[in-house]
Amino acid sequence: MAEEDQELLHLFLVMEKGMASSRDRSEAFFSYLEKMFSVSLKEMEAFINGFHSEMKKGLSGAESSLKMIPCFVDRPTGSERGDFLALDLGGTNLRVLAVTLDGKRSSTISATHKFVIPKEKMQGTGVVLFDYIAHCIDLFLTEYQMDRGKNYDLAFTFSFPVEQMGVASGNLITWTKGFTATGVRGRDVMVLLREALRRNHIQCINLTALANDTVGTLAAGGYVDPACDLGVIMGTGTNACYRERIGRIGRVKSAYDGEYMIVNLEWGNFDGVARTFYDRILDQNSVNPGAMYLEKMVSGMYLGELARIVLLDLIKRDLILVNEPTAGACFTEKRSFTTEDMSRFEGDTGEGLEKIASFFREKGIPKVPFHERKKIKHLCSILSRRAAGLGAAAITAVLSWMDPQLDRGHTVAVDGTLFEKYPGFKAGMRHVFKSLLGDKAEKIALVHTKDGSGKGAAIIAAVAAAVRSPKK
Ligand code: ADP
Ligand code: MG
Repeated sequence: MAEEDQELLHLFLVMEKGMASSRDRSEAFFSYLEKMFSVSLKEMEAFINGFHSEMKKGLSGAESSLKMIPCFVDRPTGSERGDFLALDLGGTNLRVLAVTLDGKRSSTISATHKFVIPKEKMQGTGVVLFDYIAHCIDLFLTEYQMDRGKNYDLAFTFSFPVEQMGVASGNLITWTKGFTATGVRGRDVMVLLREALRRNHIQCINLTALANDTVGTLAAGGYVDPACDLGVIMGTGTNACYRERIGRIGRVKSAYDGEYMIVNLEWGNFDGVARTFYDRILDQNSVNPGAMYLEKMVSGMYLGELARIVLLDLIKRDLILVNEPTAGACFTEKRSFTTEDMSRFEGDTGEGLEKIASFFREKGIPKVPFHERKKIKHLCSILSRRAAGLGAAAITAVLSWMDPQLDRGHTVAVDGTLFEKYPGFKAGMRHVFKSLLGDKAEKIALVHTKDGSGKGAAIIAAVAAAVRSPKK
């Protein structure tokens, strides 16, 4: 337990001694939780300073919790035009899309097909997986009667950790999300895809760019809005990429023709953030202890789990769901409470908090008193407020790195269901911008930008194709 947490707990235990009712004890514990999870302005500022120093180290190629992966491509100008393809390998689905860019900041998806990836393809050999991907592309080309005599530029959105070597090459660092296909780790996934296309006699495709969801989101935002220079994901995980001046990216040694390059921060791994006793439990129980500290405090994959851990502790201390002997058993299993549940709880604005009541009824706890339902909703808000606040602090850090005085307006393209659907998440972020920046907070526009991994990736293909064959 961190020293400060311990001090607070001690205070609570002293207070508790004089308290007769469990209701009073519970009130006191909640104010303890409030303090524990609140991030003061001073702490936010320290977070931002720490973020800058990790960015600096990462950009130079030194050891850092921020990987700062160069993407070898710049933001679009908005004048890119033509037909491009995107191949989106996210988790359980594979999507193939054709996107038309009109050269005037507008784009349309002209064709799309979603394929389910069978488990045996995910967990067999790399050859089996990539042959399946090529097969799906083949079906797509046939379905939409695409002209196989043409040459289509395609961007591959590959949402797994990759060390990029160029705009169209990158080695898989490790599989995640249940994929285990052999012979892929450490290899260039674009080479594997190219070989599969060749094996399957598909000749009309240029593998033009390798992208991830943050880069696609920035591209989709930047195509419509020239002020967009930061792309952020707040969904299952959290990450961001931004536009960096090439002179500041010391780790790029190869030739690059341009003044700016997109850099993928991999910010979920930022470790300069104060953690509570509960964050430590979550980390220890996770599959990757010691890593992804920021992601574990901010993203959808973990928020619900953190709430579950706190809730279980409250139940064990007899501070909530008292007189309900089965309550503990409902929350002992990992992920038995999710971010979606939290989102539903916070979205329950009805006077009786009926949605919360029905959640517990379904768990076999029929009579949760109103004041306890209110408390559990409050717990969710304590955790989601911190998540939104830290997300906003990370955004502020990157914006102030690019533009220290915030002299110009910045559009931040944000995608992810957490940002889109969690009640009050965006407002919580705006609140922190205001506290940190005062009136300058008005310079930041947060724009929900959908389909970075589809439309956005196709835009990246267009940018990369333009670099390959510049207009005379
Ligand atoms: P991904 O990040 O995998 O591309 P999404 O952006 O759709 O996918 O994010 C999915 C995550 O969003 C889920 O892991 C879940 O934690 C969270 N989530 C799902 N539904 C909601 C909701 N209604 N409100 C808030 N968060 C949600
Ligand atoms: Mg996504």
